[in-house]
Amino acid sequence: MENTPVPGTAAALAAIVGADFVRTDEESRHVYGTDALKRGHPADVVVLPADTAEIAAIAKYCHDTRTPLTPRGGGTGYTGGAVPVRGGVVLSLERLNRILEIDEANLLAIVEPNVITGDLQDAVERVGLFYPPDPASLRSSVIGGNVAECAGGPRAFKYGVTRQYVLGLEAVLPTGAIIHTGGKTVKNVVGYDLTQLLVGSEGTLAIITKVILRLIPQPPAAATLRATFPSVEHAVDAVMRLLRARVIPAALELIDGDSLEAVARNLGVRSLAPAGTAAVLLIEVDGLTEQVSGEADRVAAACTEAGATELLRAHDDAERAELWRVRREISLSLKQVAALKFNHDVVVPKARIPELFRLVDQLKRRFALPIPSFGHVGDGNIHVNIMVDPQNTDEVRRAREAERVLFEGVVALDGSISGEHGIGFSKAPYVGLQLTPETIAIMKQVKAAFDPHGILNPGKMFP
Ligand SMILES: Cc1cc2nc3c(=O)[nH]c(=O)nc-3n(C[C@H](O)[C@H](O)[C@H](O)COP(=O)(O)OP(=O)(O)OC[C@H]3O[C@@H](n4cnc5c(N)ncnc54)[C@H](O)[C@@H]3O)c2cc1C
Repeated sequence: MENTPVPGTAAALAAIVGADFVRTDEESRHVYGTDALKRGHPADVVVLPADTAEIAAIAKYCHDTRTPLTPRGGGTGYTGGAVPVRGGVVLSLERLNRILEIDEANLLAIVEPNVITGDLQDAVERVGLFYPPDPASLRSSVIGGNVAECAGGPRAFKYGVTRQYVLGLEAVLPTGAIIHTGGKTVKNVVGYDLTQLLVGSEGTLAIITKVILRLIPQPPAAATLRATFPSVEHAVDAVMRLLRARVIPAALELIDGDSLEAVARNLGVRSLAPAGTAAVLLIEVDGLTEQVSGEADRVAAACTEAGATELLRAHDDAERAELWRVRREISLSLKQVAALKFNHDVVVPKARIPELFRLVDQLKRRFALPIPSFGHVGDGNIHVNIMVDPQNTDEVRRAREAERVLFEGVVALDGSISGEHGIGFSKAPYVGLQLTPETIAIMKQVKAAFDPHGILNPGKMFP
């Protein structure tokens, strides 16, 4: 694949979208060439189409001229998915940002891809409905990006991830063909399930131009609790006990001692929890008012039986926000620990979380690096953050080694190297640790069927 587009690309794209919506200036090429991974590559041309027809014409042009084409949503991806690693055209969907319909009778919403996730949640909540997927980036990432990555969040354990809410799609193939998959019904078994194939395909198979999303009624009540424990094992024991009590929390977050300390330091307080705290659980239950209070009691009992050293229960929204504050402050606080984090979103069966934390402890000692970890304990999805000074080449080398050992360990624990951030280009070298050559080969055949010339988001996903 050529690194530069054929001469005349900008002019050809301007003929499709209008000159005002094509960018070739230095700043745009760089801004649209990076995401939250912060390892970018400049685009040659940035194009901002207005609708599906323009996107189809752009795809056909890139297909015919063999020009790399990279779709871009909110640009918050953590694995470089929206980075045009081979240059070429970045197709920003930012002008396709309308909620087209909230259908209360059929419990669904039809949206363009660049609706900000949090805006959709607010809009449906105003009519008493609920769109549960809640990536922490929900105020800056968009539905199309969430669908392309199959984003998850704290609510995934009870409510599922983005995948569970996508009923149908309109998408443009790399050839310029427009397809419609799924539809407005929950039940639909006609043909291969291309909707679910496109969910999580990281912009490598098609450009998503419209999404039909399933909605559910908004739960009327919620209760939030915070429990502290002397070890991760105690915290996971509490999780197992509350599951045995048949409570499925809407959120179940685990924060380790290192993350807690980073937050305390950043907030300038001596401590956020009793001395000796090595793990904190944040637990939220939701549902009907009468059911929530009983579930909260069962959560409290499970934590106490598992050896919680402190148990707090929010009584109003202000207290609820205060309990969540520690969790919300982690990302910002980790910036004080080191300038760069290798942010991993590994996932293991939840009973094996203590083994994962033991592995992380070994990595800390072996590679002499801080590795604060926290995450969605209900579904075994833990954010393991290997912290490094990017100027220190030896630290970066050790972090790379630690990363590989982490991924090998996670696969050995029957887990997965990515639970929600996807592969992009940063994790592509490690895919072979988890998938067999036969599995990768069939995936490559799928890719070739959609994208015979390999123009759509090249350099991603595969080792
Ligand atoms: C502070 C922060 C917190 C985060 N927390 C979470 C979290 O809790 N859970 C989680 O899952 N992720 C999280 N993320 C990662 C990120 O927000 C998600 O992966 C999100 O889904 C990316 O959406 P985006 O709109 O920013 O996509 P982008 O970064 O723009 O793109 C991501 C991928 O999707 C493709 N893509 C985008 N739009 C389309 C489209 N319309 N059609 C086809 N392909 C497309 C791109 O080519 C790329 O491969 C977080 C990121 C940050 C910075």
